[in-house]
Amino acid sequence: TPVTTFPGQRVALFGLGGSGLATARALIAGGAQVVAWDDGAEGVAKAQGEGIPTADLRGEDWSGFAALILAPGVPLTHPEPHWTVRLAREAGIAIIGDIELFCRERRARAPGAPFVAITGTNGKSTTTALIAHVLRQAGRDVQMGGNIGTAILSLEPPDPARVHVIEMSSFQIDLTPTLDPGVGVLMNITPDHLDRHGTMEQYAGIKERLIQGADLAVVGIDDAPSRAIADRRGERLVRVHVGSGPAPAEGLSVSEGIVRDASGEDLADVNGIGSLRGAHNWQNAAVAVAVARSLGLAPEAIRAGLASFPGLPHRMEEVGRRGSVLFVNDSKATNADSTEKALTAFRDIHWILGGKAKDGGIFPLVPYFERVAHAYLIGAASDAFAATLEGAVPFTRCGTLDVAVEKAAENAAASGAPEPVVLLSPACASYDQFRNFEVRGDRFRELVKALL
Ligand code: ADP
Repeated sequence: TPVTTFPGQRVALFGLGGSGLATARALIAGGAQVVAWDDGAEGVAKAQGEGIPTADLRGEDWSGFAALILAPGVPLTHPEPHWTVRLAREAGIAIIGDIELFCRERRARAPGAPFVAITGTNGKSTTTALIAHVLRQAGRDVQMGGNIGTAILSLEPPDPARVHVIEMSSFQIDLTPTLDPGVGVLMNITPDHLDRHGTMEQYAGIKERLIQGADLAVVGIDDAPSRAIADRRGERLVRVHVGSGPAPAEGLSVSEGIVRDASGEDLADVNGIGSLRGAHNWQNAAVAVAVARSLGLAPEAIRAGLASFPGLPHRMEEVGRRGSVLFVNDSKATNADSTEKALTAFRDIHWILGGKAKDGGIFPLVPYFERVAHAYLIGAASDAFAATLEGAVPFTRCGTLDVAVEKAAENAAASGAPEPVVLLSPACASYDQFRNFEVRGDRFRELVKALL
């Protein structure tokens, strides 16, 4: 997607990861004069290797810049503004991100082109992928990206015959002052990232901005901040409620896996869809139904799309079966909250956990210990977690994931339970033993495949 809204103008760009490089290319393709920089040498070298002009922005004349384009995650406020942010504010120029550039391009070249933006504290990636999948299965031309997968400016340009399905983090919303999706989705708001966003009010305020400029808003109403946001919006709104009771007017409810509208009509049943196990996925499915409906998909097409969703890697991902034993990779679960979702979705669990523990450890999971047949401890949290498990769940200290998989597979097969589950759901960050949760999950998958 070339960005044509800065013809011949000088633009400062900071942050040369994947999305920053894509942004630089798009701006240059559209005729802007980019000056790119990064605090790390690697990004700068990559840009230079591609012929993108670079210069230490500290030495530049900021009065000549039309805007500062920032990579998401470069702090605007917390813990303190990045130095480029200070310089841009002194110069009085706009501070924006790649999704803002996309929005401007869409308005200039393809106004009204279908554009779905998705945010929330949890379930963003799953729901984004699910919406994209359902639309694709129905034959739509879909471009998916943003905070998931491909940077938005590396996607095909906006077009009336094409749907952009874009996941947005709070950082990205912050950098998109004129965000105006056709459909804005707000899944949920719970305390997270407060270190980067200040107070809960500020965090909820950023999330609310995603739906303020949207033609239609789809809002999950199962937490107080989201419910308040839905009430303030009032119109051109689909409320999505998880739980029993009738669906809200003009909204959807999902209970025991069945999605219904206010007339009580069953729209979809996600029971039996392996990639949409667990109550948290009911919300994701109902939101996808709401979005797909708003884009004109027939109920049968929506149901077919949900049923064939392969799921995302590392999120309760079924890796395989050996005999009666099911192996599940939930490496994305880096805190107790996420692991709780997995523990409630299974029984007779051979639970592999540990790594670098978060505050609170696994205390919140004690109520689910009865579902666990045996625990296998890995990584730095082993001592702390052993103390919590002691007397409640039999456990083995394994040290490494390799040992844990071997022992868990052995015990699960010998357990005699009808469908024992070997579950990697660490409730911990990975970086004591792995580069990130993806590498940890990939290793698990590799170890399991070798057993099958
Ligand atoms: P995000 O992109 O917002 O981080 P993901 O779709 O990657 O979310 O899911 C991450 C984890 O969050 C999942 O493994 C699951 O534990 C939990 N989760 C997923 N969907 C929801 C939801 N709708 N509500 C609460 N938690 C969820």
